[in-house]
Amino acid sequence: MERIFNFSAGPAALPQAVLEQARDELVNWRGCGMSVMEMSHRGKEYMSIQAEAESDLRELLGIPANYKVLFLQGGASSQFAMVPMNLLRGKASADYLNTGEWSKKAIKEAKKYGAVNVVASSEDKNFSYAPAQEAWKLDPEAAYVHYTPNETIGGVEIFWTPQTGSVPLVADMSSNILSRPIDVSKFGLIYFGAQKNVGPAGLTVVIVRDDLLGQTVKGTPTMFDYQIHSENDSMYNTPPTYAIYIAGLVFKMLKAKGGLAAMEKTNRAKAQLLYDALDASSYFSSPVARENRSLMNIPFTLKDAALDEEFLKGAKARGMIQLKGHRSVGGMRASIYNAMPIEGVQALVDWMKEFEKLHG
Ligand SMILES: *Cc1c(COP(=O)(O)O)cnc(C)c1O
Repeated sequence: MERIFNFSAGPAALPQAVLEQARDELVNWRGCGMSVMEMSHRGKEYMSIQAEAESDLRELLGIPANYKVLFLQGGASSQFAMVPMNLLRGKASADYLNTGEWSKKAIKEAKKYGAVNVVASSEDKNFSYAPAQEAWKLDPEAAYVHYTPNETIGGVEIFWTPQTGSVPLVADMSSNILSRPIDVSKFGLIYFGAQKNVGPAGLTVVIVRDDLLGQTVKGTPTMFDYQIHSENDSMYNTPPTYAIYIAGLVFKMLKAKGGLAAMEKTNRAKAQLLYDALDASSYFSSPVARENRSLMNIPFTLKDAALDEEFLKGAKARGMIQLKGHRSVGGMRASIYNAMPIEGVQALVDWMKEFEKLHG
């Protein structure tokens, strides 16, 4: 069977060239006689793989020297707890923006460690937009401000960087990291699970400004302390070595393709193709406010929801899978991360046009 177009929100498609390289190196990595999976994490071969992955990520994102890059596990979901444990730093409360399902989970977890001030919420309109900064009620005494610049389920993306003065800005970039350039120096902390736009599940990356380390709440487990991971170069315990290796191959490929500015160009072209089709259609529609239309996750609905299954069946027959939308939004969702070629989006648009002719 040929490779299919996989529109999954995560774990998501990986670049075919990366999979092929991993296959070629699987049994015997560069003549060392073993697989990356079998290497000691303290051996020189593996240490070079991790060091190179870190330096390539630093180069891609332009990460300043006073930021630490931590390769952790536990998913972005563990960060919902680690962020307050590490960043409350004796303060009474933290500010959170509520723009959807992932924001809500982060808020719920943070409440276990301190007071949460929800600065603004878009729940009034089923999380179909992001409140403008003018509507946020920021607390100048907050320990940090947390937001989700791309809500993977709702398909709501924030393209501007919130201004939080001296209060550190924290972002869950699980589903839009590496999709376009960002200015890391505007953030106190950025975290993301790898399985959307970076690599395999099992790796979680934290980028944190070094002055925020070393002030955890009492009782923080050793494994949940950023400072411990930082002091040990993410090798306090065994890191997810194979996932880091694959992520490293992805970083190399992105560099070779011209970096994040080039990715943004491609990603904008892909998203535009689909949004243009949605705008031109009287059968399919996007529930998301125009200025917040995500480049990565694009939910859309059919005029007749009773035909959802038929649409999915026809998509599958045409080599496209994982288009079913999340139950909170309904309809379809196309996740078109870096690894989705424009041909996949074109195939989807072609099927939508054909389907509309049949049923519109
Ligand atoms: C997928 C996702 C998560 C959860 O990630 P896990 O790695 O499964 O814990 C959190 N936040 C966002 C924005 C996501 O897309």
